[in-house]
Amino acid sequence: MGLSMNVLALRKVKKILKKVNALKESVAQLSDEELQAKTPYFKQKIKEGVSLDKLLPEAFAVMREADKRVLGLFPFDVQVMGGIVLHQGNVAEMKTGEGKTLTATMPLYLNALTGKGTFLVTTNGYLAERDCEELKPVYQFMGLSCCFGAPEEKNLKPAVKRRIYDHDIVYTTNSALGFDYLIDNLAKDKESKYMRPFNYAIIDEADQVLLDTAQMPLIIAGAPRVQSNQYGTANTFVTTLKKDEDYEFNEEETNVWLTKDGVKRAQAYYGIENIFTEGHHELLQHIVLALRVNHLLKRGDDYVVQDGEVKLLDKNNGRVMEGNKLESGMHQAIEAKEEVKITPAMRAMASVTYQNFFRMFPKIAGMTGTGKVAEEEFINTYYMKVVQIPTNRPVQRVDLPDRIYVTLPEKLLASLEVVKKIHATGQPLLIATANVEISEIYSELLLREKIPHNVLNANNVPKEAEIIKEAGQKDAVTVATLMAGRGTDIKLGPGVKELGGLAVIGTEKLASKRDDLQLRGRSGRQGDPGMSLFFTSLEDEVVIKHGLTWVHKYYDKNKDFDWDQPRLLTRRKFRRALENAQKASDNEGQKGRETSLEFDESLRMQREIIYQQRNELINAQGGYDVEKIITDQIEQFVSTHPKLDAFTLSHYIFSNLTYHYQGDITQVDLTNANAVKEHLLGIAREELALKKGQLANQAEVANFYRTAILRAIDACWIEEVDNLQQLRTVVSSRSLAQRQPMYEYHKEAFRSYGKMKADVYQKIVKNLLLSSVVKTKKGNVIYFV
Ligand code: ADP
Repeated sequence: MGLSMNVLALRKVKKILKKVNALKESVAQLSDEELQAKTPYFKQKIKEGVSLDKLLPEAFAVMREADKRVLGLFPFDVQVMGGIVLHQGNVAEMKTGEGKTLTATMPLYLNALTGKGTFLVTTNGYLAERDCEELKPVYQFMGLSCCFGAPEEKNLKPAVKRRIYDHDIVYTTNSALGFDYLIDNLAKDKESKYMRPFNYAIIDEADQVLLDTAQMPLIIAGAPRVQSNQYGTANTFVTTLKKDEDYEFNEEETNVWLTKDGVKRAQAYYGIENIFTEGHHELLQHIVLALRVNHLLKRGDDYVVQDGEVKLLDKNNGRVMEGNKLESGMHQAIEAKEEVKITPAMRAMASVTYQNFFRMFPKIAGMTGTGKVAEEEFINTYYMKVVQIPTNRPVQRVDLPDRIYVTLPEKLLASLEVVKKIHATGQPLLIATANVEISEIYSELLLREKIPHNVLNANNVPKEAEIIKEAGQKDAVTVATLMAGRGTDIKLGPGVKELGGLAVIGTEKLASKRDDLQLRGRSGRQGDPGMSLFFTSLEDEVVIKHGLTWVHKYYDKNKDFDWDQPRLLTRRKFRRALENAQKASDNEGQKGRETSLEFDESLRMQREIIYQQRNELINAQGGYDVEKIITDQIEQFVSTHPKLDAFTLSHYIFSNLTYHYQGDITQVDLTNANAVKEHLLGIAREELALKKGQLANQAEVANFYRTAILRAIDACWIEEVDNLQQLRTVVSSRSLAQRQPMYEYHKEAFRSYGKMKADVYQKIVKNLLLSSVVKTKKGNVIYFV
């Protein structure tokens, strides 16, 4: 059924392709000037209300011709088809080497004609810059502006960023774009804002960005939290515990907790009676964190230690994620485990996940070599279809069926034999491992066999370009983690086609089918010959985590082996067992992302309201009804304090309304709510009038009001973001207590939103009345409390 759907979708795309092709000849006849004149012509049509869909055939034909004249590359029919799918806001599945970069020029041109700005988003800044430089000439030829949007230097001035974002086409990275969005929404005034409303984005490696890394929140860190000194001791304590006695895992080994004995041990170790009481909350959290990082996270797999720093690895591509840290003390717990300097944990000031970030665009499109297997999720989460575009030339790569062994050593030895045989013929080999550790073990094995080779993993990124360049040459052997998976283009050296192209050897069943496919795709690009073969075992992580019980039992019974004779498991049930384990892993990934999206919903709604209110405030020209806010606040105070005493009243006055109260509280009838209210209003009006009197003109007053309100919103919103972040960690670790974590989370989030709103108003009043205006040479400066 999947196939026929694709055939159907392709048929529609091909119809449009025909129209583009029909214009090929006539567009080729145009002079350069006539071709360039098409841009203002299209823009005029758009102004007149002609839809982009209507303009597509001609605009694509024009851009295709421009590509040929300026870049010397004429987009193939399959590339035009890919471009059509991208314009329609769907995912175009195109294999490696099919020319996705060129494909994107057509939909970018068409959508940029609206003048509303477009993005080409990749995960890799280097690639974004390279593609931008390569393609800029053709956009400029056609009268559109294009620039690179993720420059290395941070803290660019808003004016500089505005210039970037005003370009018609911006090549950028998902992280630069996401962070810029968050920063833009922390702006204090119009001058500090630089982003235009979102319009259209094409996302390269769409499954990686929109699915795999989608849960990772982008976080702008603010002030540090109070540092805890319990990480070290908790880590030491945890290393004394015994598996199954003191702590145990869930079935998939994705979670770990203390047993009753473990709890007793902790209480004895710390000399306390009951660790579950309120006062030991933090200690318990530290122990849980230490347990998790010691037993669930692996160095070389989840993170590396470089220059005394713990750096997270992106599980999807084996690369270091610079500047990313785990939340809620987890990062500090790893630092304690690795005995490096413990860095301060920061409060989150603003955060958004990629999922929710990209869902804000009216239209997004995706390109990837592996989209179809995740189509259901694309449809559910982003309302995007996946259309498989045929390759320009037929794929010649031979994908051999997996070879399955019982244990890891057997699998490695067997693969080594195959590697030796292939290497003897001179055919280049790419040996892919799931983590840094295995890549290093494999390197040892090759050294022992005296086979020269390169190793590419998170520890030797600087040599990446050189290693990849060599990887397709005769006799080359390259051992790499998933870093060599996506996006790396391995070109074949002279004489290699005759040897059968690049041979890809996988050494593990990977966590996602998409990862397997990406690795195979390194070979056989653009009709080249090639082969791929995976060696797997019942010890592969995906089998340990997601294999059925009978598989584990079989493994336990057969795990001892004879070094001379690796046992190849040929029965169908093993093949199916491995496939099912991978499927279960992919399903878990998908479910995790769905849960994350659900969790994120409260934050998303709140963020949208807050950002919208900020924008309205920033754009409003005066007209802030601060007197109403003050009156409401005072009324609320009075109504919530029916039995008022003099002390409470004077405390309220001094901490909310004024520092210079001269009146006599004893003169106020505290039993008469109206009298109290009038008295307080009098104080507030006087104080506000005083402030206004110190300001030079109406514009300064408006500016003062706006800043007072913005600051109040920001201070409370930052608290709230941090709050929700913490709440989420707490609630998810509570799931064992048989509650519904999602329900609890939203309920609590709603409650804290209400509290935040109340806090905002109170803070606005304070900002208005308790601030002080100081005259300087440059003008009035306001100091807020
Ligand atoms: P992908 O990102 O799909 O793997 P790239 O965009 O990196 O592929 O393109 C791969 C190579 O194919 C590049 O060297 C590019 O110049 C070349 N190429 C792309 N489209 C064409 C075309 N229409 N004609 C000739 N060469 C092309």
